[in-house]
Amino acid sequence: MPKISKAIEKLFTVPVILEMKNGEFFAGAIDDYISGRVIAIFAPHQLVDKEISTKDPFYTERLWEDHSKEIFEYFSLKDIKNIYRAKDESLLLSQILDLVLNPFQRPIKGIECNWTEDKKHSENCDEDLHESLVKCAKAGMEYYKSEKEKEDFQKSFDIIRKFIINNNGKIP
Ligand SMILES: [Zn+2]
Repeated sequence: MPKISKAIEKLFTVPVILEMKNGEFFAGAIDDYISGRVIAIFAPHQLVDKEISTKDPFYTERLWEDHSKEIFEYFSLKDIKNIYRAKDESLLLSQILDLVLNPFQRPIKGIECNWTEDKKHSENCDEDLHESLVKCAKAGMEYYKSEKEKEDFQKSFDIIRKFIINNNGKIP
């Protein structure tokens, strides 16, 4: 028992994928280990095959259903078959979710800069570009109201960010 809780404590805040014994997959970050062998997952997502055509009921798309409105979802350890984490610890949950759906894509990785937390840019960061992008991202997220619109905006924003990084822009 203590062994299990130690192993799980090491995974706190790390994005993980849970493979359940019933064949379902969930993802999120382990936030807590609760006695009774239950773990709390922050920003929970579930892998689902969603029907995307009303005409053809067999046409489905595999996607991550966002359950993060719940904030936490609780899982009993006895229902979990495996807990997976990414080899690359710098990957964000959103990047891991993308990798599951498109395993052959390379995640976009910018430079390290913790300006939003430390109020100081890292040495090699293009400060003006970084701050301008944060302003745009904030404005977009405030402007769009529905989850769907926010998701679309996030996708567009990621395309721009990817372009900048691929063209040697120094941003995180
Ligand atoms: Zn920066």
